[in-house]
Order: sequence, then structure tokens, then C-alpha cells
Amino acid sequence: MILMEMEMGKMRSLIDILDLSVQEIDSIIETAADIKKDPAKYSEKCRGKKLATLFFEPSTRTRLSFEAAMYELGGNVLGFSEARSSSASKGESMADTATVVSGYADIIAIRHPKEGAPLVASQHAYVPIINAGDGGHNHPTQTLADLFTIKYEKGRFENLTVGLCGDLKFGRTVHSLIAALSRYKGVKFILISPKELRIPSYVKHEILAKADVEYIETENLEQALPELDVLYMTRIQRERFSDPNEYERLKDSYILTADMLNLAKSDLCIMHPLPRVNEISVAVDKDPRACYFKQTLYGKYMRMALILFLLDEKQKNVPTKVINKKFSYDHVCKNPNCITSTEQELPQIFWCANEEQNIYRCVWCESRAK
Ligand code: ASP
Repeated sequence: MILMEMEMGKMRSLIDILDLSVQEIDSIIETAADIKKDPAKYSEKCRGKKLATLFFEPSTRTRLSFEAAMYELGGNVLGFSEARSSSASKGESMADTATVVSGYADIIAIRHPKEGAPLVASQHAYVPIINAGDGGHNHPTQTLADLFTIKYEKGRFENLTVGLCGDLKFGRTVHSLIAALSRYKGVKFILISPKELRIPSYVKHEILAKADVEYIETENLEQALPELDVLYMTRIQRERFSDPNEYERLKDSYILTADMLNLAKSDLCIMHPLPRVNEISVAVDKDPRACYFKQTLYGKYMRMALILFLLDEKQKNVPTKVINKKFSYDHVCKNPNCITSTEQELPQIFWCANEEQNIYRCVWCESRAK
């Protein structure tokens, strides 16, 4: 085990929602609210700038809302929407792609099926990198959309009881949202999932326990419903299952119906990162408590505000985060979805998450060393 510093990228980037302080999130929300009120004021802010969207995995909302965001700021967009149409299909590494594209764009948004890929990109690119979703790991810009929705619909983050329901194991948006909300006072989580799809241990131990946040795990949505201020539904993430029969068995674990909402508070805020498969019945859409379509629009404003924030940091040459931790090179990451499984010559580095319990986590995907 060695004590060392690791520079998290060359430029200020957004890889994990915790890369932004609470104050920075507040100021991004403020900008987004101002954009919502007066979009014309922002329509020339990125004139002459380019956003590259490198999507190695399917997306509708995230990619299109990034593109719409950049166009509405007066900028331009280039990129691809599937790995097949990029040199990744010829075996190009993330590091090389990031280096090359930083010569073509001022800022890059990356979605990748491998966990840790955007972090690898940020260590090579000369422009800010935005993580637009890495495997089942993180999705910080969805969290920005979620935070704006909660702030706008509930007026606060503090003292909310938030229910997260569905696939809490593979649902990357859930992991980032828990990390973000754990920083506010009095937030309580009710984690509703089948036993097989509970949140990963790193979220429990390194985020919830560390921040001393109250949470309970349950399988029963109906029982939890009356207590909730926010209900965050998620789909079961079919593409992350190695066994299709397991997916078939779990896919309809939760379906929120209009009748069930009789049990809920009158000011419940119902959210979903979308796409919906069938976890929320269509009849719920008419209920004024349904906020999931508004959430997608709020996401565009937050992405506009984020692009402005990161380009401003780039101009000011703000140094990137340096983590000073105990690291180990003695483990090999066993997570098949970790970027170390495909990226050439990427070192296997683990940081010490808990010295007493001897817990090490992969720097790239955060899986625990076995
Ligand atoms: N759109 C979200 C994501 O990219 C949620 C989902 O796909 O279920 O993670």
C-alpha cells in the first residue's frame, strides 16, 4: 500500500456528481432557472464552440438533450451515436479517442458501457469531459436533471423522504442521485427493490454510512408509498443482466398504478429517468404528481448550465481534483464491466476505502477488490 496523489484528469470535468460541491450545484441550478426564464439571453453564449457527443451505447434523452443544449447556446455539435460508427469498433482505446477528439471539440460528453471509461478519457483529453453514463456505475448529468426537478417541484432538498424503486443494483442514475442527496440535512431514503437488485455495497458503505444518512431497504412499494415526498421509479436494466431468465423473472417487480397513488401524499413528486418500460402505468401520466416528462426538459436546462460552467472553468484554468489516498497495485479488478477489461495498458489501481476493514476499491469502477 502506498500513499500517493492521483490527478483526476487534465481539465475540470464531471465524472462523478461529487466532483461538484453543493455550492456549485446551487449555482448551476440558479443558471438553469435563469435559462428557463429567459432563454434568449443565452442564445449566443457558446457561439463558435463545439460539443462532441461520443455515445458508445444507446441513448435518446441524454444525447439529444446535450445536442439541443449546445444548439440553444449558439454552439455546434459533432459526434456519433453508436460504437459501430467509431474507431472503437477497430479496437481504438478510450485514451486515444479522447486525445484525438480534444483537438476537434471544446468539450466532450461520453456515454460508454464500460465503467470508468469517462474517467480514463478525462486523464487524456485537453478539454472538459462529461460523463453521460458509464455502464451501471454513474450518470451525473441525469442527477443534475433530477436535482433541478426536486428543487423546482419541492422547493428544497432538506428533510425529504425519498423512495427509490426498481433496479437499484444496475440503475446508475440511482447511485449518483443517492450520492448527491446524501449531502443535504434530514434526507431519508427508502430503498425499494427485489433482494437481487439492492444497491451496491459501495453506495451503502462509502456513501450512506459515511454521511450517516438514514435509510431502509424494503421490497414493498405500497407500504412505503404513504411516507414519501419523492418517488423515483426506475426500469429493470435488461442490458446489464448476464442471465436473461433472471431478467424475465424480475422485470415486472414493480408497476406503479393510478390506484396505488391513493396511498400517497397529495404533493408527492413522481420521477423516472426514462425510458419507461412498464414500471409506471400510462394512467399515472395524467396525475399532477407525475413529474417525469418535466424532468426531461429540466435536464436540458441543467446541461446548458453545466456546459457554461465547465467552459468557464476551462477558461479560468481551474486545476483538477487531486486525490490523496492510499493506493494499492496488488489487486486485479474482477468486474467484467470495468474499463480495465478492455483498455490497453490501463494500470490496475485500487484505493483504500476503509483501512480497518481492509476494503479496497478499483479507482475506475469502484468495485471492491476480492
Ligand atoms: N436513461 C437512464 C440511463 O441512461 C435510465 C435508464 O436507462 O434506465 O441510465
